[in-house]
Amino acid sequence: MCIFCKIISGDIPNKTIMENETFLAFEDINPLRKIHILVIPKEHFSSFNTTPANIIGQMTGFIQELTKKLNLNENGYRLITNIGENGGQEVEHLHFHILGGEKVGRLVDKR
Ligand code: 5GP
Ligand code: ZN
Repeated sequence: MCIFCKIISGDIPNKTIMENETFLAFEDINPLRKIHILVIPKEHFSSFNTTPANIIGQMTGFIQELTKKLNLNENGYRLITNIGENGGQEVEHLHFHILGGEKVGRLVDKR
């Protein structure tokens, strides 16, 4: 079972921000900004590439509800999903990162 499936099953504890029967939003264990939340589907999909479009659509609605609830919409936030090796994906269970609570900053140019 993957690490995020263990979070969903309760085998690994998490700090839940919001959930419904299909999705879970919880705090990242290693926050990169003041707010760093991960949003995952409760069903295992390895990445954005292998997730059915209707799940992505439902997830969009869930994330919009979450950011509204956390008052992130006025000042904005960053939404990221890393895909595969070049994308820097470490956990092979689809997740969106929500980064905010302060200016996130630009991606640094490749040197
Ligand atoms: P990725 O690099 O795959 O896009 O991001 C994986 C994220 O999962 C990282 O930001 C990492 O800090 C987070 N993470 C890894 N293991 C755990 C865990 O056990 N609990 C929580 N809350 N976050 C985790
Ligand atoms: Zn999983």
